[in-house]
Amino acid sequence: MKAVAYAIERAASVEAAVLRLAGTDGACKPVAGGQSLGAMLNLRLAQPERLVDLDALEALTGVRESATEVVFGAMTTHAAIEDGRVPDPSGGLMRSVARGIAYRAVRNRGTLGGSLCHADPAADWVSTMPLLGAVMLLAGPQGTRELPAAGFMVSAFETALADGELLVGVRVPRRSAAARWSYRKFCRKTGEFAQALVGALHDPADGTERLVIGALDGAPRILERAGLLRGLADPANRAALLAEADLGLDATRGALTAEMLRLVADDLGDLG
Ligand SMILES: Cc1cc2nc3c(=O)[nH]c(=O)nc-3n(C[C@H](O)[C@H](O)[C@H](O)COP(=O)(O)OP(=O)(O)OC[C@H]3O[C@@H](n4cnc5c(N)ncnc54)[C@H](O)[C@@H]3O)c2cc1C
Repeated sequence: MKAVAYAIERAASVEAAVLRLAGTDGACKPVAGGQSLGAMLNLRLAQPERLVDLDALEALTGVRESATEVVFGAMTTHAAIEDGRVPDPSGGLMRSVARGIAYRAVRNRGTLGGSLCHADPAADWVSTMPLLGAVMLLAGPQGTRELPAAGFMVSAFETALADGELLVGVRVPRRSAAARWSYRKFCRKTGEFAQALVGALHDPADGTERLVIGALDGAPRILERAGLLRGLADPANRAALLAEADLGLDATRGALTAEMLRLVADDLGDLG
């Protein structure tokens, strides 16, 4: 199948792109790396009249850092993160996640922002950003706003983006040198989307104890509280945690997720 005929233009500014997109009810769509949208076009799952290419927008490409955080432009590619061409505030988690996304050709073009806005439940950044406590920076017809990453993905392929809104960047807090993380996913073969995914972050500097369970039918499940990650070496504690999360998975996906959680517990080791 071939895509429907559509026009394509380069956005000159964030404001111009937002004006173009607003009120078109999807007839005008932004395109970032095109790695997901391209397939949607070819399958005619998306039939826009016009694409607005975000490639030339400086506001979406840069990376800013401070002592407490790194702000990634939405157009930052998976490959730039994988290669360490941009700083990694997560102590290696982001770089490791980027390395495991698809194949290098996809990572060269695919972007952090495109992946988050596409909101595939089995994708990596939709789980990683809530795990890191990231904040989404949005620009739309009503101005700019910020949203915690944990509330950005609403359900499968649906985000909290309002009409005409663009994801401009993602603010990721810096983790302390004492932070420990683990991220495990199961794919049938390398480069495929995950069938089960569990990540954990423990940072004693600010008391963060967070777990993300992804590759579900909708948005990832985030669990967070003091003591959450302790005692996970005990199978009974892991079973209780999965029961608490109430994932509604079938037996196979439930077993795969339980196994990812076991690996995560092994990686974290004794948290004292
Ligand atoms: C073979 C293959 C395997 C893959 N495997 C994985 C995997 O294992 N893990 C994984 O995480 N991903 C995987 N992906 C997806 C890949 O990571 C894509 O890069 C990503 O899903 C989309 O990023 P993109 O920049 O190409 O976005 P695009 O395809 O350009 O856009 C995706 C959607 O987001 C919207 N959009 C893009 N940017 C913005 C923005 N700034 N603001 C608002 N809306 C925006 C577009 O309108 C579109 O609806 C795979 C893709 C392929 C083709």
